[in-house]
Amino acid sequence: MSRLALWSRRRFLHATAVSIPVATALSGAESFAAPAKGSDAAALQARIAGTVVVKGDAGYETWREAMIWQRAKADRRPDMIVQVERVEDVQEAVRFAAANGMKVTTRCGGHSMAACFLRDRGMLIDVSRLDGIAVDKAAKIAVVGPGVFSRGLAERLAEDDLAFPGAHCGTVPISGFLLGGGVGLNTNAWSQGMSVFAVKAVDIVTADGRLLRASETENRDLFWAARGGGPGLFGVVVRFHLQCFDAPKVIWGASYTFAYGELDAVTRVMDTVVPRLDKDVEVLFAVAAAPDVAEDAPVEQRQRIYLDINAFVASEAEGRRKLAPLLRDPLIARAIDRIENRAGSFDRYYSDNEASFPQGFWMGDDAWIDRPMEAVEILKRHIPNCPAPRGTPLLLYMGTNKMPEAACSRIGRFYLAYYMEWDEPAQEAASRAYCLKLFKELKSVSSGSYINEMDQEGRPEDIRDCYSPEAWARLARLRRQWDPKGVFHGFYGQS
Ligand SMILES: Cc1cc2nc3c(=O)[nH]c(=O)nc-3n(C[C@H](O)[C@H](O)[C@H](O)COP(=O)(O)OP(=O)(O)OC[C@H]3O[C@@H](n4cnc5c(N)ncnc54)[C@H](O)[C@@H]3O)c2cc1C
Repeated sequence: MSRLALWSRRRFLHATAVSIPVATALSGAESFAAPAKGSDAAALQARIAGTVVVKGDAGYETWREAMIWQRAKADRRPDMIVQVERVEDVQEAVRFAAANGMKVTTRCGGHSMAACFLRDRGMLIDVSRLDGIAVDKAAKIAVVGPGVFSRGLAERLAEDDLAFPGAHCGTVPISGFLLGGGVGLNTNAWSQGMSVFAVKAVDIVTADGRLLRASETENRDLFWAARGGGPGLFGVVVRFHLQCFDAPKVIWGASYTFAYGELDAVTRVMDTVVPRLDKDVEVLFAVAAAPDVAEDAPVEQRQRIYLDINAFVASEAEGRRKLAPLLRDPLIARAIDRIENRAGSFDRYYSDNEASFPQGFWMGDDAWIDRPMEAVEILKRHIPNCPAPRGTPLLLYMGTNKMPEAACSRIGRFYLAYYMEWDEPAQEAASRAYCLKLFKELKSVSSGSYINEMDQEGRPEDIRDCYSPEAWARLARLRRQWDPKGVFHGFYGQS
C-alpha cells in the first residue's frame, strides 16, 4: 500500500467515524484511489497534506456520504472534496477553486440537517481534521480548530478549570455551531444568549486565499459576518479564539416527566416562573413518545413531557437555592417520574444526550418564540398528526439579552426546535411535509428562525428571517466586497 493510500485511509476513517457504519467505511476506504496522474486534481493533491477526492473516483460516493452526519444523504454532488490537514491546505484549495472557476462550500461535522454544505458541482472543503486546542489559562482564552467537538473542548478546558458554552450534544463540532450562532450550554449566563458572542476572534481564509485575523480591532466587518453568518459566510474559518469561563464545580439539576395533558401547565411555568430564576439555571422541556407505549396509542397516552433543569454553579448548596423557586411550583408535585438532586458534569450531560441521538434519518426546524403559550396552541394541533416514528418538539428558555453587534441578530425569549427521526426512506416525504406545514403556521407567532437548525431545504425563502433586515443586507454587501468573484456559495437555495 502506498504512503498516500495509507494516509488516505487514516483520514477517511477519521471522517467517517461518526458518520456511517464502520463496515461501509472500511469497504469504501479500501477502494479509494488518488486523483488521476497529470490531472489538475493531482496537482492540487501534490501541494497539500490533505486528501483530494474527485467525482468519478473510486471511493467518491463513500466519501460524499461520509460528509453527512446522518443517514438521509442529500442527493447533491460536488466535483471535488478536499479534506484538509493544515491551514495552508485550505489556502491552496481556495486558490485552486478560484483559479478553476469552482464554487466552494465548507463542512466540518456535517451536522447540518439539510446538508447545506453539499451542493452540486464545485468544491467541498472538509475542515474536520483541523482540531487543535491551545489554552491560555491565565487569559481564559482557547484557540481552537473548527473540528474540535463540543465534548472534546469541554474535556480539555476542564483540565484548566475552564468551560465554554458548547453545543448541547457533545458530538457537534464547534465550527458550524458557532458560525451560525450557537444555542449552547449556559449561554444566558455566559454569552448573552448565543455562544458566538464568546468568540473573540477568528482566523479566516478569504476568497483570494489570504489568511486573516478578524476581531473587534482587525477586519471588523469580517468579524461581524463570522459571528452568525453561518452558511452565508464568504470564507473558511480555520481557528476560533474563544473566551472561556470559570468551570462550574457542579451542574446541579433535576428532570421531571409529566403527562401530555400538562403541556399548557408546563409551558406556563416556562413562561412565568423560569424567567425569574438566576441566569445560570437552564431549563428546557421536550415532548417525546414514552418508550413503552404503542405507536398507535392516543397522543395523551403516547406522549410525555420531559422537563430538564440544570444550574451551572459553584456548589450543591448554590444549586439547591437556585432551583428552589421552580421546584416549589405546584406543577412539580404532579410529575409522574423524577430524577432529583442530580450532581452532574459536562461529561454526564453529554453522555446522557448523545445516547438519544441514534443514527436514523433526520430533519429538523426551529423558531424563535416570545410568547410560548401561542406556539404551544399551534403545536397541540399538529403533534397528534406527526407521521415520523419519533418527533420531538423542544422549548428552551433563552433569556432576554441585548445582542452585541453581529450577523447573529435574531433571537427570542424561547427557542423552539422540532426534531423528526424516521427509519425508512419511505417515511421521509410525509415527515418533511408535516414539518413544513407546522413551521409555516408557527411563523405567525415567531420572530424568525435560527439558521443552524431551520429547515433550509424545505423553507429556503425563510432563511432571511434568521437575520434582521439590516444584518441580511449587510451580509450581502460584505459578500460582494470580500468575495467579488463569487468563489463561495451563499445560503442554500440562494446561490
Ligand atoms: C445531533 C445534533 C445536535 C445539535 N445540537 C445543537 C445545539 O445544542 N445547539 C445548536 O446551536 N445547534 C445544534 N445543532 C445544530 C448545529 O449547530 C449545526 O448542525 C451546525 O451546522 C453543526 O456544525 P458542523 O460543523 O457540523 O456544520 P456542518 O454541517 O459541517 O456545516 C454547516 C455549514 O456551516 C458552514 N461552516 C462549517 N464550518 C465552517 C468553517 N470552518 N468555515 C466556514 N464555514 C463553515 C458551512 O457553510 C456549512 O454549510 C445540532 C445538530 C445535531 C445534528
